[in-house]
Amino acid sequence: MKLSENIKSNVGPYVIAGPCSAESEEQVMSVCKEIAENNSAQMLRAGIWKPRTRPGSFEGIGQKGLDWIVAAGKSTKLPTTIEVANRHHVELALKAGIDCLWIGARTTVNPFAVQEIADALHGVDIPMMIKNPVNPDVSLWLGAFESFEKVGVTDLAAIHRGFSVYNHRKYRNVPSWELPIALKERRPETPIICDPSHITGNRDLLFEVSQKAMDLNFDGLMIETHPDPDNAWSDAAQQVTPVQLKVILDAIVLRSQDFSSDVGDRINSIREQVSNLDDRLFDLLSERMDFSEKVGQLKRENNITILQQEHWTKVINKRLNSSDEYQLTQTFVRQLMDAIHQESIRHQTAIMNPKKEN
Ligand code: PEP
Ligand code: MN
Repeated sequence: MKLSENIKSNVGPYVIAGPCSAESEEQVMSVCKEIAENNSAQMLRAGIWKPRTRPGSFEGIGQKGLDWIVAAGKSTKLPTTIEVANRHHVELALKAGIDCLWIGARTTVNPFAVQEIADALHGVDIPMMIKNPVNPDVSLWLGAFESFEKVGVTDLAAIHRGFSVYNHRKYRNVPSWELPIALKERRPETPIICDPSHITGNRDLLFEVSQKAMDLNFDGLMIETHPDPDNAWSDAAQQVTPVQLKVILDAIVLRSQDFSSDVGDRINSIREQVSNLDDRLFDLLSERMDFSEKVGQLKRENNITILQQEHWTKVINKRLNSSDEYQLTQTFVRQLMDAIHQESIRHQTAIMNPKKEN
């Protein structure tokens, strides 16, 4: 069976576990054996070549680690996966007998690198997993899938590992769930695995993000697992022991996508009311823009700039201050008001600078 079908048909999340980096034969074997004994994973991972942000960090054990993870796979009867970032990695991984390859976020972002790897896989029948690019660009992510399909590599899965932002207060890479959801819309047949390890960068948050992924119907989880996480050579803060992995997986509540017709009727009736409210919201927004245009007209006639900063600060502060009253977060209120404001400016600009007829 194809890996993508295997992932989709697995009861519960399809789990990929193993160390961020292979460090020694003993480390890889011991952690993989424990994961397998606990029945915690369907596939084993290990980083062999590590893309590092700064030179001088551990760059991966290299080629000799391939035999360690292949041996761990044989001993546990679980398939294995590693990251490849160039043609050389692909050739060595195929020779060593790795079952599945993935490309990392720093590779997906670069179409030249993706193409090099795709070319190296021309005519090879191996499943590939594609991590999202570091920046929030669904087209780039989709493009990587297409590059592999073009060379005949069609057994594909996606890995959502979050998106890079400067100094986020909570996450190492923000999840921006709307992006994997957009990918799912475009490629419903492609399974999506969530990688809470690289999203959080913090083992205390792994459960929360894993549960969220399951609630959003993700198909699996990739969780970095190490025999001694605090002393790991890479990504120490986010790795867990096999025991901790089992605790996380056991705690996840799996909710069904299907429901009985009685529950279905009730859900549909509430959805109907939500849809009516959405209709009203959009009617109101449209009406609001009519007023923006009226203001735009007056500003035009009197030669006044569109943006009146003081006025806008007052408007937004009024809403931010009452966010509690509406039981909305300040972040949401800010985003919503900014979006409305942008659209309003667009309407006013169209009034102020009407397109000249040719
Ligand atoms: C990894 O999974 O070890 C890794 C380097 O991930 P990413 O490409 O998501 O940074
Ligand atoms: Mn890692």
